[in-house]
Amino acid sequence: MNIGTHGGACGHSCCLRVQDLTVKIGADTILENINLHAHCGEMIALIGPNGAGKSTLLKTILGQQAYDGIISFSVPGSRNRKPKIGYVPQSPAFDPGDSVTVADLFACCMSKRPAFLGQSKALREKISVCLERVHSESLIDKRVGTLSGGELQRVLLALALEPLPNILILDEPLSGVDVEGMETLMDMLDEIRKTYDLSILMITHDFSMLSRYADQVILLDKQLICQGTPGEVLNSEDFRRVFHRKGGNL
Ligand code: ADP
Ligand code: MG
Repeated sequence: MNIGTHGGACGHSCCLRVQDLTVKIGADTILENINLHAHCGEMIALIGPNGAGKSTLLKTILGQQAYDGIISFSVPGSRNRKPKIGYVPQSPAFDPGDSVTVADLFACCMSKRPAFLGQSKALREKISVCLERVHSESLIDKRVGTLSGGELQRVLLALALEPLPNILILDEPLSGVDVEGMETLMDMLDEIRKTYDLSILMITHDFSMLSRYADQVILLDKQLICQGTPGEVLNSEDFRRVFHRKGGNL
């Protein structure tokens, strides 16, 4: 196992490289010999049937799962600096009756002061700036449990962007979001990666969004089955075989 930085010989100022990655849990091989390369400013969509190992791959990159192989990052400024990774988990559930507000949620992550004591003016301003990044300042006093799927994803995205990461990882951010909300979220991700020049790695089952937004699509089914532009992957024999055989979302 090896996490480190590398020289970025690909010519981009920062990138993520996964080489010969294998993940075993107990006796089961969950991922086998995965190789991928994500440049900054790029949006990469990870697709595959249920149980393909997509979430496991993200957790491994996040450092939450043991593995064999190499995961390395090159970060601008220093060869030894560790990358900052922002993570939006798969649809966390919040109780609609719970009184926790968006501001409370940010306060828990950004301040040592107990959230029930309220936020200082300075912290509230900082939270507003975070929410502005996803055009959601108006949500600051809403209760988290009452947010729509799209609003919740925007709030979680704003949390993942503080501090600004080098790589943003999202696990099925479009599930539970209506069509209009999906477009808003994808437009926002597109704007964020251009503005902050960060790599985005996201799992999605919504193939209709791929051609418009993704630079690269990776089809995973325990192994990396195929990889390329959205057109190349969606029109491939591999794509038809994997999703017809497994009864995917086509
Ligand atoms: P996906 O996100 O593509 O649906 P996952 O990465 O969640 O797939 O899971 C891939 C496989 O790994 C599944 O068969 C799942 O049961 C297994 N798996 C994931 N996490 C664990 C775990 N902690 N213990 C045992 N098996 C696991
Ligand atoms: Mg998953």
